Amino acid sequence: MRMVVEVEAELTGRTLAEFEAELMGQLRRQLGPVVAKAVTEVAGRVPVGLCPSCGGRRERRGRDVRQVVGLFGAVALQRNRVRCLDCGANGYPADEQLGPEAGERYTLGVAEAALWLATESSYAKAAGTTKHLLGVEISHGQVHRLAQREGELVDRALEEQREMVFGLGKRQVLAKLAEQGPRPERVVVQADGTSVNDRATGSEMEAKARIVYQGVATVSKGRRVLLGKRTYGGVESMAHFGEKLAILAAQQGAFRARELWFVSDGSSALRRLQRAYFPTAVAFLDLWHLEHRLAQALGMEAAGVSLPPLLKLAREGDVDKLPAALAECREAAGADLDRRQRLTLEMEYVRANRQGIANYALHGPQASGAIEKAMDVTVGRRLKAQGTSWYRLGAHHLLTLRILKQNGGWARYWQARRSRSPLLPALQF
Ligand SMILES: [Zn+2]
Repeated sequence: MRMVVEVEAELTGRTLAEFEAELMGQLRRQLGPVVAKAVTEVAGRVPVGLCPSCGGRRERRGRDVRQVVGLFGAVALQRNRVRCLDCGANGYPADEQLGPEAGERYTLGVAEAALWLATESSYAKAAGTTKHLLGVEISHGQVHRLAQREGELVDRALEEQREMVFGLGKRQVLAKLAEQGPRPERVVVQADGTSVNDRATGSEMEAKARIVYQGVATVSKGRRVLLGKRTYGGVESMAHFGEKLAILAAQQGAFRARELWFVSDGSSALRRLQRAYFPTAVAFLDLWHLEHRLAQALGMEAAGVSLPPLLKLAREGDVDKLPAALAECREAAGADLDRRQRLTLEMEYVRANRQGIANYALHGPQASGAIEKAMDVTVGRRLKAQGTSWYRLGAHHLLTLRILKQNGGWARYWQARRSRSPLLPALQF
């Protein structure tokens, strides 16, 4: 199909900027009619086909116009309407073949642009910028709807994969995962959670994130990058989160690596997750969390004196002397019942994370700075922006799109969407 668009603009005596504005304006005005003509031509040749719902024969019943908004602007497309002789359903063979899907006003080109923006800024700002840059009409509600549709598609593909892998039963699963991926020296898994405002209840809900990486490299002037870093996040149950984490870790070679490390904040939920999905991992309690908690338990005054020796024991992984030192701090708290109680809780936390601290002795203390940063970049900047609150699914779907982008899968995903190829292969990071 050969399409000719003719533009005419004068450069002599004008600036390049004026010339450019004139050309782009003409191009935009002309593209719409060209697209409409091409689609009408092709749509007229699309065979009537069989009914997609019952397989019955169909016959032509006139033509209808459809409004579609694309990168070429808003156009009215003519296409044939057909009716199923068996079930009576109306259909449009041209829509079935060319898209957009039934009821959709925007092409994937517009959706991709709007969602690229919506992963970074509010739906209202994304709609405004899309309008400004592409010259198409789109509201914040429509960008929101597109985000939900697209996030759900990505999520569904990942859920199918999760069910496929974990439908086998856990023992076989871990064996199967161990067969996947590269063979790195070391894989580090870090997981954490943060709260976002829950619009349904007016309280808070937990967004979870994790990163998997294969080591750290120093690039120019002390700037460090994580090698092979992949991020995952979601607002979902710990079980689903754990299973998806295991799959994504496997793709980074976690179960074939010489060393597998798991760094967490030491919460009971994450310890359970580690035992269930990463039983062979060397577990570390995040030193930063420990330090922060110890300082809080001691209180401002006592922390100045007591914190440094406690931290020294922790860094050395001395899990025999650390509880004893904490007990001494508790004794020193005397009649301060509040502090005594906080220190009792802290002793329980240290006991529960005994192995995670003891492993410092062998490998050095580990901090989860990487996940803290990822949490901020992945979740915080968009889902915790001032004045934002979310419905659970809405937050989960948007997070899914942000991660798709951060892991570098964005272009591949949209390529698969445009060509209607299976989505899952495009989602393997
Ligand atoms: Zn039918």
